[in-house]
Amino acid sequence: MLDLADFTLLRNHGHVDGKWIHADSGAVFAVTNPANGQIIAQVASMGQAETRRAIDAAARALPGWRAKTAKERAAILRKWFELILANADDLATLMTAEQGKPLAESKGEVVYGASFVEWFAEEAKRVYGDVIPENALGRRIVVTKEPIGVVAAITPWNFPNAMITRKCAPALAAGCTVVVKPAEDTPLSALALAELAKRAGIPAGVFNVLPCTDPVPVGDELTRNPLVRKLSFTGSTEVGKHLMRQCADTMKKVSFELGGNAPFIVFDDADLDAAVAGAMASKYRNTGQTCVCANRILVQSSVYDAFAAKLAQAVAKLVVGPGLLGETHQGPLINEQAVEKVERHIADAVAKGAKVLTGGKRHDLGGTFFQPTILTGITPDMLVAREETFGPVAPLFRFDSEEQAVRMANDTEFGLAAYFYSRDIGRCWRVSAALEYGIVGINEGIISTEVAPFGGVKESGIGREGSKYGMDDFLEIKYLCMGGL
Ligand code: ADP
Repeated sequence: MLDLADFTLLRNHGHVDGKWIHADSGAVFAVTNPANGQIIAQVASMGQAETRRAIDAAARALPGWRAKTAKERAAILRKWFELILANADDLATLMTAEQGKPLAESKGEVVYGASFVEWFAEEAKRVYGDVIPENALGRRIVVTKEPIGVVAAITPWNFPNAMITRKCAPALAAGCTVVVKPAEDTPLSALALAELAKRAGIPAGVFNVLPCTDPVPVGDELTRNPLVRKLSFTGSTEVGKHLMRQCADTMKKVSFELGGNAPFIVFDDADLDAAVAGAMASKYRNTGQTCVCANRILVQSSVYDAFAAKLAQAVAKLVVGPGLLGETHQGPLINEQAVEKVERHIADAVAKGAKVLTGGKRHDLGGTFFQPTILTGITPDMLVAREETFGPVAPLFRFDSEEQAVRMANDTEFGLAAYFYSRDIGRCWRVSAALEYGIVGINEGIISTEVAPFGGVKESGIGREGSKYGMDDFLEIKYLCMGGL
């Protein structure tokens, strides 16, 4: 039994047109706690027909929602923000139960998730247009911005709350209506957000949530239905490409936040203690399961051994355990496949000559718990160099020159986040400019905030979320040319 103050936040139905609905087929699926394998809830599994009804409801609700003034929408979003914060403890408990991250991290995510609702409630009022000096006498040229229309949001399990608010808050603020498909591992956080949206006065049909065990029929409808004008997706590059192809037939606008392969570069002039603290936060947060987690740690030869020793000391202090129990720093991995991928990456590296400095195995706690791991002697032919491990494994690469570090850092099809540590101001500017990434942390291991644009280049995605730029993805520009004046 979960320790919730308000059990009505634990919902187990789809949320369509302001109502909680069963699946037409009666199908349900189990949501389990990755820390102990126990079933938390049986949730209704939505299919294609329910998705179509949700899209229809969102289309019906669109005229009324977009006709509200920005200030009216902002007031409702503000209420949602306040309710999320007021219920932060319960939302965090639900999140840790279904996702596994330590309770303190879940609380952090709820506050971070809420920050997008607050931010875009404020931004709603600042969607300005333009007046362009006319190109001919007797004309006026005016640019207005309009909501795109019905938005589909498909979100991952690693941030079950914030990936929804980061998409839906700007969409709703802009005057769009939304249909959300949360990840199958973590629907409860999404449904709790829907309950609070209802309480905040978000009208029926404006915010719909479709939990499901099979993403394909729901995803197919969301990407093919012509009423949906925009898809915003966060997840793997492979699925992102598939969804982009499906969106092509109806020429939907798309935003994608996809995989990363973040380099974390430690130069010989870095403050090594700061670099270790940054690497710990960037690497081991959420058990290494974020798309901006340091995936490749590149260390200059002269400080390689010192950095590795300090990192190992810090890793030794990490407490691994169930997120709901006491003070833990690292929860379980999301599921067995995630553990198998981590094991595959470590085995491949070791077979090709890497050394395990610490960890390397499943944790004694069993299940999907894994030891925080450091590997040394990494070379570019290893899987850890090419693929996102998405687990608590820090592979340490060695480099000699700045030029080599930049070349290694850019040697990937991904381009989401990169980090580097240096106290040389010239190097900071040079390396920032040379890195082919959407986000660069310079002497910082944690870069996510609602005030700054989050997003990648190359195969890491399209579009930006958060900040003043985050609204643009949900707006269309309309140009009015008024003649005969
Ligand atoms: P991850 O590796 O993080 O699980 P995925 O890309 O598999 O990333 O999942 C991210 C989201 O995409 C989840 O909500 C998942 O259900 C959804 N998803 C996966 N496959 C499809 C698909 N074929 N159509 C629509 N959504 C999908």
